[in-house]
Amino acid sequence: MATLARIALPRAVRQLFDYRIPEGMTLTPGQRVRVPLGKQRTLGLVMELDPPDPPDMTLKPVETPLEDWPVLPDDARELLLWAARYYQHPPGECVFAALPPALRRGAPASLPRPTVWLATDADISNLPTQARRQRELLAWLNQHPGQPLTSIKAAGFTREVLKNLEKRGLATERTASEDACTWPDAPSIELNRDQATVLDNLNAPGEGFASHLVFGITGSGKTELYIEFIKQRIAAARDPDRAQVLVLVPEISLTPQTLARFETHFGARIAVWHSALNATERLSTWTRVREGEPLILIGTRSAVLLPYANLVTIVVDEEHDGSYKQMEGFRYSARDLAIYRAWQSGCPVILGSATPSLESWHNARKQRYHLHRLERRAGNATLPRTDLVDVRSRPLSGGLSPPLLEAIDQTLEAGDQALLFINRRGFSPVVMCFECGAPIECPHCDARLTYHRYDNCLRCHHCGHQQAVPRTCPECGKEGLNAVGQGTEKTESVLAERFPETPVIRIDRDSTRRRGRLDELLAPVRRGEPCILVGTQMLAKGHDFPGVTLAGILDADGGLFSSDFRGPEHLAQLVIQVSGRAGRGERGGRVLIQTCQSGHPLLTQLCTGDYPSVADTLLQEREEAGLPPASFMTALRAEAPTMADSLALLDDLARRAEASPAPVSVLGPFPAIIARKANRHRAQILFQSQDRPALHRLTNQLCRYLEQNRPAGGVRWAVDVDPQSLD
Ligand code: ADP
Ligand code: ZN
Repeated sequence: MATLARIALPRAVRQLFDYRIPEGMTLTPGQRVRVPLGKQRTLGLVMELDPPDPPDMTLKPVETPLEDWPVLPDDARELLLWAARYYQHPPGECVFAALPPALRRGAPASLPRPTVWLATDADISNLPTQARRQRELLAWLNQHPGQPLTSIKAAGFTREVLKNLEKRGLATERTASEDACTWPDAPSIELNRDQATVLDNLNAPGEGFASHLVFGITGSGKTELYIEFIKQRIAAARDPDRAQVLVLVPEISLTPQTLARFETHFGARIAVWHSALNATERLSTWTRVREGEPLILIGTRSAVLLPYANLVTIVVDEEHDGSYKQMEGFRYSARDLAIYRAWQSGCPVILGSATPSLESWHNARKQRYHLHRLERRAGNATLPRTDLVDVRSRPLSGGLSPPLLEAIDQTLEAGDQALLFINRRGFSPVVMCFECGAPIECPHCDARLTYHRYDNCLRCHHCGHQQAVPRTCPECGKEGLNAVGQGTEKTESVLAERFPETPVIRIDRDSTRRRGRLDELLAPVRRGEPCILVGTQMLAKGHDFPGVTLAGILDADGGLFSSDFRGPEHLAQLVIQVSGRAGRGERGGRVLIQTCQSGHPLLTQLCTGDYPSVADTLLQEREEAGLPPASFMTALRAEAPTMADSLALLDDLARRAEASPAPVSVLGPFPAIIARKANRHRAQILFQSQDRPALHRLTNQLCRYLEQNRPAGGVRWAVDVDPQSLD
């Protein structure tokens, strides 16, 4: 009988808590319990029993378990503990973040349906003659099909013997009274030759863990490839009727077509997981996953934390997408955890993209991932031609140059659709006084207010502050404020004036706020009606618009001169993804990129559309600069009511890091790019090293130091391992 339980509590401390197990109480790791904490009581989750390093002190007793079975199975618990260590986040917060809200609050969890065991008809010739107990159990199972573990034990067999039979594929576990749990017979897709070759190569490593990177240009048919691969993995699974598959996607609302394609093949076996689910939906899907129901879960980031029972494969679609990294709280990368999860489950994982992240590209180059290529578009579509438009000293209207306007003309005349990408929402990003030249700034942030014309107001895109447009300049009091520069709204209105006959459809966060609105807006585009699409990032993701034959990028220069070292990588991915929206149909397409830097080597290289060579160049630059993925990085951030407080905290850390013998270089501290956001003054410090364990140890020491020496008055800090964004 265990006497001590090590328990995760939902508290922001980097430790687990030990409790005494009262006599007569039996606990299992993974169970929820109620425990006393100071003068309060709280919910906890048992992580370990009788740990090898018990504390030398009197412990408080566990009060009550909430159920007598583990809510969180072993694999999920191990994953979370590993992630808590790797990302240096309080383990209790990680564990509780992975529970559906209802279970976090202590609501009852439903018991997984009981499972029973069956002998399979696999070949017994690989069962060695000396495995006497296994042979006996197999004979017993053939005489007593469908018995639960308890009966098997009662018949005198151990769990170990049973598990050995299962490993050999001779016995299988199944949910009792399972009837609806079968896979629909879906029509098979006829893959083209390239897809078929990749499919064979994906299957080549056979059973077990393997990580693959599928570099497939936009429109090369990656989704079809995933679907066929998934079908084969399910068919090859030891127990197809318990097989589970995870498909991670960046944002479900942006890719209803992908979801629909999966549904045609797997019907009711599809489950979804995303931020718009309510608490009931969350609990129900979580429970289906926990119970081991056969399903394909299509989900965003946090779907990687669900308690899968029997994963047979994982797909991470658009693996380069920034949304896989959580930017606050438990700052994990779902893509990286997917690799760990697949390793844990002994199953393959596919990362797929037309523009792989440099991290994954690097891993493929180092042969840590198998690299597969799909370099032709499926069907008859060809890749668009890409040209630069030099906009130095050209008159622009609404950000549009004459050559781009002309190209739009031609596109519309041909009855086709045009798509224009601009990276700012709103009407204009700056409102400035004619007299004194002062821009109107957010009172709470070091940022300018954006003018939104549709509701005639000024808004801060960093803190959400909004205000009416003043009549006079807040600085000099003169009249004559002027909106400068353009966002999606302005480009939309200029286009509407210039092309009065053609609908202009604007896609950004403002125009698609209401649920279902995006689909409504895109309906005419999908029907192939002539139109001009104007939008932000949202347009660059995954859509398949066969009628679009022209894509325009209004301003490519921001990414070239970004203060984030990932700026050029993100620009390259964006250009290729936006270009990928053009010419998916049979009529081909073209892409125009407006820039003041038409001689820039990155842009000229991008015009070839050859992402692998762009990625190689960028990777080489990173290697020369010693930046990730050629090294490892951790950021420590601080924010406080004054910049001096933030910097003081980080200065202290910098001194400690520099005094340590660890081979880690210290960059900063320096103020964040937006140094003041919602009246908090933000700064950061970066640690960089070739030696991941040394970097990890140093970061861990600093976190512990900060936990023990809590900074005073309103200073908050956070650690970000493998940071993806440095603003
Ligand atoms: P990606 O995800 O690589 O951008 P998609 O999977 O969306 O590409 O495929 C692009 C288009 O090609 C889709 O309309 C898809 O239906 C079509 N397609 C994919 N594979 C095939 C195939 N083997 N034969 C015919 N059309 C295909
Ligand atoms: Zn603000």
